[in-house]
Amino acid sequence: MFESFDVIRNAEMSQYTTLRLGGPADWLAFPRSREEIAAMYAEAGDAGIPVTIIGHGSNLLVLDGGIRGLVIRVEKNMREIRVEGNRIIAQAGAMLGTVARMAAEAGLAGLEFASGIPGTVGGGVTMNAGAYDGEMAQVVTRVDGVEPDGTPVSLSNGEMAFGYRTSAVKDRNFVVTEVTFELTEGNREEIFARMSDLNARRAEKQPLDVPSAGSTFKRPEGYFAAALIDQCGLKGYSVGGAMVSMKHAGFLINQGTSSADYLALMRKVQSIVLERANVHLEPEIRVLGSEEE
Ligand SMILES: Cc1cc2nc3c(=O)[nH]c(=O)nc-3n(C[C@H](O)[C@H](O)[C@H](O)COP(=O)(O)OP(=O)(O)OC[C@H]3O[C@@H](n4cnc5c(N)ncnc54)[C@H](O)[C@@H]3O)c2cc1C
Repeated sequence: MFESFDVIRNAEMSQYTTLRLGGPADWLAFPRSREEIAAMYAEAGDAGIPVTIIGHGSNLLVLDGGIRGLVIRVEKNMREIRVEGNRIIAQAGAMLGTVARMAAEAGLAGLEFASGIPGTVGGGVTMNAGAYDGEMAQVVTRVDGVEPDGTPVSLSNGEMAFGYRTSAVKDRNFVVTEVTFELTEGNREEIFARMSDLNARRAEKQPLDVPSAGSTFKRPEGYFAAALIDQCGLKGYSVGGAMVSMKHAGFLINQGTSSADYLALMRKVQSIVLERANVHLEPEIRVLGSEEE
C-alpha cells in the first residue's frame, strides 16, 4: 500500500508530536502536492482505510494505541513560501515562524503574533491560531485545499468561518494546501523588534523546554484557563509523568509518561475545576487515535 509515496510504515507518532506521546500510525505519508493528497485519499478509499490529516503535531494528543489507517503529514514536502507585493503565499506545510520571519524580511507587518507558534500554516488556519491579540483570521485572505474526493476548494476569509480556535476546515472536511496572507507595509527593524519582544514574553511565561502541546484547554468565556487551574491549587499536580506546569498552569506537560496518564490528568483537572470553580474547561488540543495498545 501507498508505495509510490514518501511513506513510513508503523511510524511512532511520539516522534511526530510536540507532546512526544502516541503509539504508531499504520502508515505515515508526506505528500508533495495537492494531486498527491488526492491520490492518497483515492488509494485509501479503494482499500477502505481511514485517513487522518496532521501538520506539525503541536496541538495533538495521539493516544497510546496509535492511529489506524493512513496519516497524512502535510509538513515535510509542502513548505514553499513566496512574497508577492504585500501578500505572502505559503504552502500548508510551511512553519508559521518561518513565514513570519520572511514577512519581516520583506518589511511586511501583521504576522508578528504568529512567529512563536510552533505549527504549520495549515494547522494554524485550521485552528485559527492566535496570540497577543492577533489571530490567523486577521491576516488570511484565501485558503486553497482539496476535498477527500479530489475536488479543489478555494475559500475566502468570510467562507472560512473563523471563530475562537476553530474554522470551517473541520466541518467542510478538506485538506488545506496553500494559504494567502495579506499584510501591511512596515519598518523591517520595528517588525523584528516586535517579534523578539513577543517571543521573549513567551519564553518568560511558558515552559518551552519540556514537551507540551501549548495550552491544553480553551479560554472559557469570561475566564482564563491557566488562572482557574492555578486558583484550584493544581500547579505541579500530576498523574504519572503528566504534570500541570509549575511555570504556566495552562500547559499540561509530559515529563516521561503515557497518553493514558496525560488523558487522565486532563480529565482530573477538568473535574476539579468544575467542582471548585464551577467552570467547564473544554480541550483546545485535538485527541487522535485509539486507547488500546
Ligand atoms: C509550546 C507551544 C506553544 C503554543 N502556542 C500557541 C499559541 O500561542 N496560540 C495558538 O493558537 N496555539 C499555540 N500552540 C498550539 C499549536 O501550535 C497551534 O494550534 C498550531 O496552529 C497547530 O499547528 P500544527 O501544524 O502543529 O497542527 P496539528 O497539531 O498537526 O493539527 C491541529 C489540527 O489541524 C488539523 N490540520 C493540520 N494541518 C492541516 C491541513 N493542512 N489541512 C487540514 N487540517 C489540518 C489537524 O487535523 C488537527 O485537527 C502552541 C503549541 C506549543 C507546543
